Amino acid sequence: NYTLGLKITNWDQHRRNWLSFNPGFSPDPNKPRILLVTGSPPNPCEQPIGDHYLLKATKNKIDYTRLHGIEIVYNMAHLDKEMSGYWTKLPLIRRLMLAHPEIEWIWWMDSDAIFTDMAFEIPMARYDDHNLIIHGYPDLLFKQKSWIALNTGSFLLRNCQWSLDLLDAWAPMGPKGATRDEAGKILTANLEGRPDFEADDQSALIYLLLSQKDKWLEKVYVESSYYLHGFWGGLVDKYEEMMQKYHPGLGDERWPFVTHFVGCKLCSSYADYPAERCISSMERAFNFADNQVLQLYGFAHKGLGNSKVKKIRKDTANPLEVKENLNLEAGISF
Ligand code: UDP
Ligand code: MN
Repeated sequence: NYTLGLKITNWDQHRRNWLSFNPGFSPDPNKPRILLVTGSPPNPCEQPIGDHYLLKATKNKIDYTRLHGIEIVYNMAHLDKEMSGYWTKLPLIRRLMLAHPEIEWIWWMDSDAIFTDMAFEIPMARYDDHNLIIHGYPDLLFKQKSWIALNTGSFLLRNCQWSLDLLDAWAPMGPKGATRDEAGKILTANLEGRPDFEADDQSALIYLLLSQKDKWLEKVYVESSYYLHGFWGGLVDKYEEMMQKYHPGLGDERWPFVTHFVGCKLCSSYADYPAERCISSMERAFNFADNQVLQLYGFAHKGLGNSKVKKIRKDTANPLEVKENLNLEAGISF
């Protein structure tokens, strides 16, 4: 029977002890330490353009985390060869939790998810009593048992025993081959709208939470008040309108926090959407976000589809005075 590693049972106590012996890392209740984790396959993309957009999406994450004092890890290794593809995140998250007792939250974000609100911050105080924060819709989850009720492209998991237990319970459908193929049939039979394919981490999580509600749900926060994950299809054509009407910092449909290119797969050869549409949409999402960064330095893209930039301010001999106002306008407080 597959396991992610030796069973750990008293992590909360070990972590508390470690923290008490390492006072330099003592937690700040108002700003829990967050580690953003993302990654991509160990080898080049099948199409070179895929690597270009991996780089842009990485730059975007570096920018967001730098602006908000969040640490970032980029992983390209398959830590466990049975847990390949989308399942890679499970052994990775577990390893990072155990190696980084100073971190309170691990935030997994897919490579194809882009921060599109550079000012928005996750309202962490809301989650004091929860261990998993994930975007989704309770109706789709409980009434429809839909396979897209939750999205595992962007979620936060608290560094605690509960999370290690969740990872252990989540992992068994993951091993590549017969196990994953057979599990896929169970998931398709039980989840609304799921196509017939091998078990994926998202369906497996939904299935686990639905079949063991009493065990897990109390600590799961299903978030829909802002786009911790936002499906790109409904968002990318509205960026200009958003720029006219709204401003960064809202995080919801007015100015989406994250735009996630579900189904685009520029790195591999099969995809649900035409590559041209994915590429032009990713370019727009990237530039929409990048404008919020470049603005701090006096530049903006010539258009959302344009990688070239223009100056948006006259040079000043008193840059620090201008900086104050700029940060306010961008909604960023350093
Ligand atoms: N991933 C990874 N290593 C791999 C394959 C995938 O780290 O070998 C990560 C990558 O960040 C990707 C996520 O897992 O975005 C989800 O994988 P999936 O195949 O679902 O890709 P997506 O639908 O996000 O393109
Ligand atoms: Mn994705």
